[in-house]
Amino acid sequence: METACIKFQPSSAIGQKLTINLAILTIFLFMSGFISVTFAGGDTESFNLEQVADGIYLHLGIHVEFTHRQHDDIANIGFIVGEKCIAIVDTGGSVTIGHELLLSIREISQLPVCYVINTHVHFDHILGNLAFLKEGPQFVGHSQLADAVEQNRDFFLRQFRGDLGPMPDKDSVIGPDLTVAKTMDLDLGNRVIRLNAYQTAHSHSDLTVLDLDTKTIWTGDLVFRERIPSLDGKLKGWLAVLETLKNQEINLAIPGHGTISHDWPQTYAAEKFYLTMLLNDARKAIKNGQFLEDAVSSIGKKEKQKWFLHEQHHARNVTKAFTELEWE
Ligand SMILES: [Zn+2]
Repeated sequence: METACIKFQPSSAIGQKLTINLAILTIFLFMSGFISVTFAGGDTESFNLEQVADGIYLHLGIHVEFTHRQHDDIANIGFIVGEKCIAIVDTGGSVTIGHELLLSIREISQLPVCYVINTHVHFDHILGNLAFLKEGPQFVGHSQLADAVEQNRDFFLRQFRGDLGPMPDKDSVIGPDLTVAKTMDLDLGNRVIRLNAYQTAHSHSDLTVLDLDTKTIWTGDLVFRERIPSLDGKLKGWLAVLETLKNQEINLAIPGHGTISHDWPQTYAAEKFYLTMLLNDARKAIKNGQFLEDAVSSIGKKEKQKWFLHEQHHARNVTKAFTELEWE
């Protein structure tokens, strides 16, 4: 992006002084991080990339339904820059989004991409992987992720064919070659990130990425903000994982969907409230001998105003919760 002082053509001494002031202002804003990515090219600007902590860049996903034209751009994705190399955290819901992320990285750094980390198997976090293949990274995920990718491969090829590049085939969906059973540290060059894998919670393959320098956590879809949480794993497991995360020292949280937050564990208070409501109300409905359809139409009505896409996902969440708790 051109700076204001380049465009400005002074015709007087006042003008020259203004130019200098604008230049100083530009340098100041740049150094203080206010325009951290404005030196980047059109792709980066249009890709809405923001430096949210030192060397940590985030592209915020938008809140639209899976059937929307921009369904491939709903997840928060980004990257962490070390002295030696770069780690990607989630690649978006299409090869196009993955490619845009890569282009925006190259406006900022020419360091190699050594790791592409996927926080879980869902399409909006993983289908952009193919865009990074030529960079030769290690693809990293939960120890269950490889299986989950296998189980979803045909579904992805069928359902998201248009998002997998010009000639999609089974190799267009890329799973991990480095997996995390519990915890693993990766060194990006004078910068260590810690990966933690969890029991079944939001999904069967949830993983968090913690940057030890800045204490920034990428939660993947263990945390939803503004967009309604979607339950694909186990409700009780999800609440248990949130409980274990509670006492972590976190300066900045980047959720899988929604805005970032400096207020941990308050970051996920609304989500925890929603999931706890699901647990309690579904248990009550089961105890009272309600049918599933009645539970779906009566549980969590008050939550409707609080979440984007409530209409689209709430009924499924109640159904998942009900079926999980029916046999406890
Ligand atoms: Zn997601």
